Amino acid sequence: MKKRNVFKLTAFLLLLCFLLSAVSCTIPFLKPQENEPATDSETLDKEEQNPAPVEDDDEEDEEPPKKEEKKEEDVYCELQKYTIIYPNNGDLALYYTAMCLSDYFLNELAIEIPYKTDAQAESAYEILIGRTNRQASLAVASRYLQADEFLIAKSENQVVFRGNNYMCAGAAGYFVKNCIEKIDDVYAVHMNTLKTLNTASALTQKWEETENVILLIGDGMGRNQVLKTVSTGKIRVWEGDRLPGQAYCTTRSRSVELGSASYTDSAAAATALATGYKTINGYVGLNENKKSVKNVRELAEEVGAKTAILTTDKITGATPSGFLVHVDDRNNTTEIEKQQKAITDAGVISLCKGSLGDSLFDYTREDLWKVSKCGSRFFTMIEESEPDHGGHNNDMDAVVLGVKRLNECVAYAAAFTLMHPDTALIVTADHETGGIELGTNGKYHFTVSTHTNTNVPVYAIGSGIDTLLAEDLIDNLDIARFMASVYGAEAWGQE
Ligand SMILES: [Zn+2]
Repeated sequence: MKKRNVFKLTAFLLLLCFLLSAVSCTIPFLKPQENEPATDSETLDKEEQNPAPVEDDDEEDEEPPKKEEKKEEDVYCELQKYTIIYPNNGDLALYYTAMCLSDYFLNELAIEIPYKTDAQAESAYEILIGRTNRQASLAVASRYLQADEFLIAKSENQVVFRGNNYMCAGAAGYFVKNCIEKIDDVYAVHMNTLKTLNTASALTQKWEETENVILLIGDGMGRNQVLKTVSTGKIRVWEGDRLPGQAYCTTRSRSVELGSASYTDSAAAATALATGYKTINGYVGLNENKKSVKNVRELAEEVGAKTAILTTDKITGATPSGFLVHVDDRNNTTEIEKQQKAITDAGVISLCKGSLGDSLFDYTREDLWKVSKCGSRFFTMIEESEPDHGGHNNDMDAVVLGVKRLNECVAYAAAFTLMHPDTALIVTADHETGGIELGTNGKYHFTVSTHTNTNVPVYAIGSGIDTLLAEDLIDNLDIARFMASVYGAEAWGQE
């Protein structure tokens, strides 16, 4: 290009720049940031000469710090100095993310890092989860993030996580993997691995190959059991609704297909989920020809995964039994106990516990860290049985209690899954109980005291769930096949 042309172009750009400045000062919506009036005239000029998409701006902003980082000394802050801070507003996703991160430090690094609400006085060493009242959290509170994105940044020695729904736990997973180092037996945050509030850009959650499955079952929990619970105000949000994967699932057993029963029972439903075979109501771990068929817990155990089964029901109940034993009568408690004892005596199961009641959550927490310890592969099934009992007895309080308890487990397991990106979390029911419907008076009511064929909801997050939930309506055998594929079974269950 000739010098004269360059001069002309420069003059033209300056004119354009002047005109744009005039326009942007008079028309507010043309300003780049509504809440941040651009005070630095240099930055303003730059943006207007180059009115390109946001990404280019980021690059310009990022470059100077990168150069500085090369000269910068490595800065480490001792992990032990930190407190995890979450907002004091009752958002379960953020509360359980804080708890789960603290549990990671305790279980994997043997360090006690407390988690407290932002009502606590501010300190220099804080890990801030979501929109806390701290200045550093507020500075990034309006940054737009996609559903699968999170933000992680530093402000002096504070570390800031931001994300929608469960994505702060994605930031927690990123943090423990990339930002913590052990130096002379002391764990420290390597501050140079974190960008500043201004330079940090959104990161996308990265899932790894699926190695583990967490299966949460609400026995008898249809969609209306969930909606009823939300309507009582006893839970603010059903945490399943905040997970990215959602579908419905058909539950019929072989007995239903043969016309010998109207709906599945929990034994056949658990057998379908665990073994991939539709069977006769009452059978546990057997196909319709009474042949013993392998369950997913046994398969996981074979490939070296740690396994655990938890329930609020009796441990000899039909749902846990589907993942443990092989018996042609779900009521043959003597045989079920005998077979279970053989499993626990052999020491091949990490946790196997029933009748947990309100301690289901505490055991869920213990379970997840126990089976995943030191990067071990795992499979766990955790059941809340109260929605089924409530359905049979037409006791709405029992239904609500069960859904509420399961909701806490969903919240914690979701945070845990984001911190273990090789894990799939599936939340579903074995069948619906009580035929709960919404009446014209706007109230939920039972229509029967039995199970029904109503499709049950499925909620999921984690590695591989897009494959599982490719369709909006799946069958319980699809869940079985997906889980078995995680542990290497190419063909699983019936054709
Ligand atoms: Zn039942």
